[in-house]
Amino acid sequence: MTEILAPAVSPAPEPASQAAAVGASFEQLPLSPALQSTLLQLEYRTMTPIQAASLPLALAGHDLIAQAKTGSGKTAAFALTLLTNLNPRHFAVQAMVLCPTRELAEQVTQEIRRLARFEGNIKVLALCGGSPLRLQASSLEHGAHVVVGTPGRIMDHLERNNLSLAALNTLVLDEADRMLDMGFHDDIVHVAKRCPANRQTLLFSATYPDGIARLAQQFLRQPREVKLPERHDDSKIRQRFYEVKHEERLAAVATLLRHYRPVSTLAFCNTKQQCRDLLDVLHAEGFHALTLNGDLEQRERDQVLIQFANRSCSVLVATDVAARGLDIAQLEAVINVDVTPDPEIYIHRIGRTGRVDAGGWALSLCSPADKRRVATIAAMLGNEPEWHTLGALQSGNREALVPPMVTLQILGGRKDKIRPGDVLGALTGEAGFTREQIGKITITEQSTYVAVARDIAREAFRKLSAGKVKGKAVKVRAINVSN
Ligand code: ADP
Ligand code: MG
Repeated sequence: MTEILAPAVSPAPEPASQAAAVGASFEQLPLSPALQSTLLQLEYRTMTPIQAASLPLALAGHDLIAQAKTGSGKTAAFALTLLTNLNPRHFAVQAMVLCPTRELAEQVTQEIRRLARFEGNIKVLALCGGSPLRLQASSLEHGAHVVVGTPGRIMDHLERNNLSLAALNTLVLDEADRMLDMGFHDDIVHVAKRCPANRQTLLFSATYPDGIARLAQQFLRQPREVKLPERHDDSKIRQRFYEVKHEERLAAVATLLRHYRPVSTLAFCNTKQQCRDLLDVLHAEGFHALTLNGDLEQRERDQVLIQFANRSCSVLVATDVAARGLDIAQLEAVINVDVTPDPEIYIHRIGRTGRVDAGGWALSLCSPADKRRVATIAAMLGNEPEWHTLGALQSGNREALVPPMVTLQILGGRKDKIRPGDVLGALTGEAGFTREQIGKITITEQSTYVAVARDIAREAFRKLSAGKVKGKAVKVRAINVSN
């Protein structure tokens, strides 16, 4: 893994042959005249930054890991590549796109169809749950050039020999981070193994958690990396400093949480002892808070991270060491319980909240003795620290902050061949819940964790316990964030 091109954030020189300039037109790309006319017709006049960074590499045949925020035009980046690799006169599946959900697969299918409009008769087929396997199988028999689907449904077709990948030249993983969140890791690896070895693989993701690199290592070949990290967009992180007496700082965290009411907050402490103390204070005040520390067993650590990432825990209290490698896409606030002496660490901490579309809060508590540290940090960031007082917040909202989701644990996981679709199916099928009421589904070796909206938690628990997942009765328990 080599190149890191970030035209949106760095004016650093790039090899002209590999990266197109931001705002450059598609005309300089080696695209067919048909695709060029489609782009004109769609009024795609200039490339978005991720397109400018990734298309020259992808069209040159490289494997790719591309990370850019939602709405940045990733679909066209891989769609133009797979359409370029495709021979319309050859009636066989030449490209496959894996997506986390049916809705996304359908959107991607539409976008590929739009872009393929002038390319002759190209058949793009969506293969997802919700429509009968048999119908899809007969569509496959009639021939498709491109298939777009969820890993589970693609596996089903592979198992039934409905889908041949012998002629495949392009494999795309779209929203890879979400697919990992939803427990599709093993399915993706399985599907990738069934593809011809000499294919091109493109991985697209909005965030870059550890799991992505591990996934990529398994089946991408010398991938180029193109990252447009949002965290450099400081304008999206609103920083505020609060001066407090040393002994007031733990209670001050609760005041901040009640005032700002972030759904997910990462609270950084400098020591493990401070983590424990803060957790006690937050629990006493009724918050759903958890901590990460080195004393946890792997399974406990997983459970903490799962509950935090799926929004059934409001606050995660951690030291910098414990939070290493943590990548949570939706983090509304970071609270620095202490100002760190190291400006680099400060910048790293607050960068975690800059990925929320609405912008994130970076709130720092600072004792009078720490004020000099804040001056150093501000000098390094080149901005004036914004000081605020806690007094102004105290009279505010006293209502408890409650996380929107509750985690249900199903005793049964990968070893029982449970897949996300099985759980989603059980909840949205007979149980009658909507897709919107169901959050993240995480599958580990032994267990499956599903986040459900708090107001349906009891009923979902009851229906899951009484019903079946993958044709079998399952044991379910609700995980209560201790408080
Ligand atoms: P992402 O997958 O990164 O979240 P999408 O691929 O869904 O983003 O693109 C977001 C929107 O931008 C879509 O409506 C798409 O049609 C539009 N779009 C993509 N590329 C361009 C472009 N070069 N110029 C104008 N609009 C574009
Ligand atoms: Mg997308």
